[in-house]
Amino acid sequence: MLLALCAASHAQQKPEQLAQQSSDAWLGLVDSGKYAESWQEASALFKSHVTKEQWQSALHATRDPLGKMLSRKLKSATYKTTLPGAPDGEYVVVQYESSFEHKQSTVETITRCSTKMGNGESPATSSSNMLAVQLESKRILSMRKVFDFDSPDGQYVADAAVLCCFDHRISAAVRQFLKKQAVERADMIVVAGGAKTLASPRNDFEQAFILEQVRMSIRLHQTQRVMVMSHSDCATYGGLAHFKGDQAAEAEHHRSELLRAGELLTANFPGIAVEPYFVKFDGIGK
Ligand SMILES: [Zn+2]
Repeated sequence: MLLALCAASHAQQKPEQLAQQSSDAWLGLVDSGKYAESWQEASALFKSHVTKEQWQSALHATRDPLGKMLSRKLKSATYKTTLPGAPDGEYVVVQYESSFEHKQSTVETITRCSTKMGNGESPATSSSNMLAVQLESKRILSMRKVFDFDSPDGQYVADAAVLCCFDHRISAAVRQFLKKQAVERADMIVVAGGAKTLASPRNDFEQAFILEQVRMSIRLHQTQRVMVMSHSDCATYGGLAHFKGDQAAEAEHHRSELLRAGELLTANFPGIAVEPYFVKFDGIGK
């Protein structure tokens, strides 16, 4: 997390000390989930750049996943008069080495810019004059959340890689079938034609590309099983019309296609279980 704050400095203390104090206080708000308050504590300039909603959703996206703050140690506080992307002024770059529940070690950088204040002001008041021009978070803020949904973010081992056609008519059947087969974590390789890309590729590139996808699934998600599918009335074969409406002839053709796709997969990935399936409009055959 890279934050930049601007606060008024206190006459009796070094800017570095003040910067650290107000950064500590401000991070405390963020740590305790008081995101709205942390925005409230920012200066008018910051608020004119970032709305409260944007700020909250940025923190939900970047801070929430880190979990509880476990430790935070001051790494450095450096006084600067220039800073990339900011007008010249007095700045203190405060860096912490922090550890969170879900992230062992991270460096938090807070850049605080100072404006001189009268002697009567307390440091506590000064922290309320914080300006944050987010550098990293600005990038995040520029992407507006349009859908709120929590996805599992842990690493996983795939139950199977599934190669099937992108034809929408078969997607529900494939989904239900996988569920029935207890394939919960599938690496879906959804492309026009499905198995055809291996059995009767339109070009060498197509075949190599799909094999590479399977290779990636094996490498990244330790996939041990490849389910390879083709389906009835597939447009890439010219549909059922290509077989003059003869479903038996179509099924027979797909049987040999699936066999060839399976052999290719087995030859490329020995030790991987390959399962061919033919998806029809009334069910799935093997
Ligand atoms: Zn198709």
